[in-house]
Amino acid sequence: MKGLLVVDIQNDFLPGGALGVPDGDKIISTVNKLQYHNEFKLVVGTQDWHPPDHGSFASNHEGKNPLDIIELGGLEQILWPDHCVQGSIGSDFPKELDINKMEAIFRKGMEKEIDTYSAFFDNGHKKDTGLTGYLRARNIDHVYIVGLAGDFCVNFSIRDALEQNFKVTLIEDCTRPINTDEFENVLKELKEKGTEIISSGDLLT
Ligand SMILES: [Zn+2]
Repeated sequence: MKGLLVVDIQNDFLPGGALGVPDGDKIISTVNKLQYHNEFKLVVGTQDWHPPDHGSFASNHEGKNPLDIIELGGLEQILWPDHCVQGSIGSDFPKELDINKMEAIFRKGMEKEIDTYSAFFDNGHKKDTGLTGYLRARNIDHVYIVGLAGDFCVNFSIRDALEQNFKVTLIEDCTRPINTDEFENVLKELKEKGTEIISSGDLLT
């Protein structure tokens, strides 16, 4: 059965937000429609949900700026502006996003010593968010993915979903990257790994 995974459509990832993805807001109305598509037997959302002292924030490392690269918990970490701080307006879903169809919302990025881009695991693959088990328990074997940002949380979620042996489809017009130039390469790699890439028009009429 098919499920829809809606990744990190939160105020801070929209234009004007702390870590705004260019045109991130443009995907919302289509994502809302997709959630009601008959093919999807389950809709699940994710929410980046950091404590204020999270290690991915440049502000928590003296002398560092956003986009600097450091080592965090033994892994290479890009530093970001403070974003999606637990309970802040930035961490909230935008009011334009319909969340009524989401049966569960998986929060991630809560451990300060490691970042979690993927909906399935932290970046070191040390902790499982439980999403794989949840999807299996609901007989989902094919995951359609939409959301933000295409080159980070969506990209990492797709890679993990493939590794967990789900069939994976990216709905390309329902994601936007932070870095548009690099995203072509990301898409090419994801395709090579077995991701099906479609447009929302293939599903919606
Ligand atoms: Zn984050």
